[in-house]
Amino acid sequence: MKILITGGAGFIGSAVVRMAVAAGHEVVNLDVLTYSANLENVASVAQSPLYAFAQADICDAAAVQSIFARHRPDAVMHLAAESHNDRAIEGPLDFVRTNVIGTAILLEAARAHWSELPAERQGQFRFHHVSTDEVFGALGDEGDFTEDTPYDPSSPYSASKAGADHLVRAWGRTYGLPVVLTNCANNYGPFQFPEKLIPTVITRALEGKSIPVYGDGRQVRDWLHVDDHADALLLVLQKGRLNETYCIGGDSTKRNIEVIRTLCEHLDRFAPANTPHADKIAFVTDRPGHDFRYSIDDSKLQAELGWAPRRNLAEGLEDTVRWYVDNGDWVEGIRQRGFHSERLGLVKA
Ligand code: NAD
Repeated sequence: MKILITGGAGFIGSAVVRMAVAAGHEVVNLDVLTYSANLENVASVAQSPLYAFAQADICDAAAVQSIFARHRPDAVMHLAAESHNDRAIEGPLDFVRTNVIGTAILLEAARAHWSELPAERQGQFRFHHVSTDEVFGALGDEGDFTEDTPYDPSSPYSASKAGADHLVRAWGRTYGLPVVLTNCANNYGPFQFPEKLIPTVITRALEGKSIPVYGDGRQVRDWLHVDDHADALLLVLQKGRLNETYCIGGDSTKRNIEVIRTLCEHLDRFAPANTPHADKIAFVTDRPGHDFRYSIDDSKLQAELGWAPRRNLAEGLEDTVRWYVDNGDWVEGIRQRGFHSERLGLVKA
């Protein structure tokens, strides 16, 4: 199958690209290369005859249309997005532009392409939107998100992703575009841009800097290894029912402070220079609108498609710390592009 993957130079997109090529699919990676992109993430497949790269902005309708015309994909996996909550607080319009308008432009280009496909290819075409559990808002102490949880996004990021989800469903219902959606828990693993919680802790600790904990650190997140997410996405693309949504979870809920302390323990073993790393933990002002708890019930995906995460969080965190310790050049490349993990997203009174 030939898959057009948007955002394939980012964290999750690159994991999907690597896995799809390894599985023998042809991949076209459409990415504009924002600050969070890195072509090193796909260096392992860049020379494959199955891989092509197309640099374009999903908000540029003409560029997106020409990529569909040139590559004539059998499916789209849409991951391109502005993805970081703190940046969304600083610049929400960038999130509306890419996540909402960009998704609409991509849907229109996909619809034009799909409507001209021969009947048998039309029936098999899929537009898969990769979304987040954050569209459901915050949970209290009890309960899990399911596919039926009402949308209640708290942040400009999650609201823009919710908007994109609604557009994708509307294109399915109104135009008959064959769509499928997934809403996934927090991802972690190699190649994650060091602004998100886990790589922030690791990379700042390796530099001997303070380790910021937002608020009291008691927020609960469900963690899924990025390769398990990529595996689930390729399965849903190929076997998921049309117009359906599947929640994807990690079955690994933890408080942020627990995750941070575990990372510090691994860092003490793999990077003994600044031990004990936990001494660098600093409680800082919480993120405005910070959701308290996420937890996913993914029994629909497990029952219908037989998927389950393969990696447990304890091993996954250890492997992730080791990956960042072993891949200092990758992190250094990001620093040289001007990223120094400054605090973003505090609303000024
Ligand atoms: P990321 O920031 O690492 O990657 C995003 C990629 O999209 C980058 O390569 C970037 O260049 C590209 N991009 C951004 N704007 C673009 C535009 N206008 N045109 C073309 N390309 C553009 O993000 P990620 O963490 O890999 O997330 C990927 C997707 O998965 C997003 O849609 C996100 O909402 C979703 N998601 C992420 C998580 C998570 O924990 N990271 C969880 C659930 C869902």
